[in-house]
Amino acid sequence: MVSKQTLEKYAELILRKGVNVQEGQPVFITAPIEGADFARLLVRRAYELGAKNVHVEWADDELSLLKYTYASEEVLKNYPDWEAAKRESFAEEGAAFISIYATDPDLLKDVDPSRVAMAQKSSGEKLAAFRSYVMNDEVPWTVVSIPTVAWAKKVFPDLPAEEAVEALWNAIIKTVRIDREDPLKAWDEHNAMLQNVRDRLNEKKYKKLILKAPGTHLEVGLPDGHIWHGGASESKKGIIFNANMPTEEVFTAPHKYEVNGTVSSTKPLHYGGNIIDGFTLTFKDGKVVDFKAEKGEEVLKHLLESDEGARYLGEIALVPDESPISQSGIIFYNTLFDENASCHLALGKAYPTSLEGGQEMTIEQLDEHGLNDSIVHEDFMIGSSEMNIDGVLADGTVEPIFINGSWAEPFRR
Ligand code: ZN
Ligand code: ZN
Repeated sequence: MVSKQTLEKYAELILRKGVNVQEGQPVFITAPIEGADFARLLVRRAYELGAKNVHVEWADDELSLLKYTYASEEVLKNYPDWEAAKRESFAEEGAAFISIYATDPDLLKDVDPSRVAMAQKSSGEKLAAFRSYVMNDEVPWTVVSIPTVAWAKKVFPDLPAEEAVEALWNAIIKTVRIDREDPLKAWDEHNAMLQNVRDRLNEKKYKKLILKAPGTHLEVGLPDGHIWHGGASESKKGIIFNANMPTEEVFTAPHKYEVNGTVSSTKPLHYGGNIIDGFTLTFKDGKVVDFKAEKGEEVLKHLLESDEGARYLGEIALVPDESPISQSGIIFYNTLFDENASCHLALGKAYPTSLEGGQEMTIEQLDEHGLNDSIVHEDFMIGSSEMNIDGVLADGTVEPIFINGSWAEPFRR
């Protein structure tokens, strides 16, 4: 059993380093109903730290499955306006958003993927305004996880349920550093390390990255004025927060129209209640022109058909193989963890913060600068100990950034 003390440390970390909750600020939490005890503990601590109103939105895998199985297409195609309005109204008030993301990776494996796709398209469209609050860092937000039985059983299939949950807790505790003497300080140090790498990449102003690994040869142009991020973010009101816990990445936006070549996935991707695995994407002038998958090809197809922007990239993130999450050797079937074990790309919307002045630009202006827009933003893992990445400078000089999955010299600590 995880001790109450550990859970309290985790709640404290999420509230202080995750969203950095402020006196008088509303808080919006999405939590799995299986984790109600932890959610309540989080709510209590949020109030103690001065939160104004703490709202919990319960996520229930069982109810989701029933809806995807039985609801009419009309229902699936019409994500309620009031669901979007609720989130937008909290965002307008400057709320902090905490998402405790923990679902059964195989939840919807027996549901017709086209039904899942229609529901995701609808929610994606209706949540566009809310998504831009988040992706522009207008509000502080964080994504964290706690184990659920179904998820833990997927990660540790040979263990009985209770032991699997405990093993997953232990893995989470390590990756979010609550096993440290002073987790808050550990996060300050970790953020400083990521910011150091980010700063060195920003000084370089690479025109292009070239990624090579088995099954991968991809050229990724970077927009003029691109910005690498890593570690803590800053909201428009100046609140310093960590959008993901754990986080091990530095990331920026690829140039929407300057991606060419082929890339192969290195870890299974949990998307739409299903697993997509062993897949390859081929790009021409930024657009996916060919794809195949050993598993979940139909689901991948639906993802790519979400809208026009779903066939273009919105993020490139670098994570060395030394990442403690990679070294754990665990496949989490949860992108929050798996993306922080591996270099990754995202299909779909780019973070406007990845471009100088991007937060003030319209969708059209962002497009002119090479930043993609979409109703999806879906990270997928491409890194391994065999990944080599070169950077091409403005004068054409080529220099190594990653050698065999690790940072090349100028980027090492
Ligand atoms: Zn990422
Ligand atoms: Zn991402």
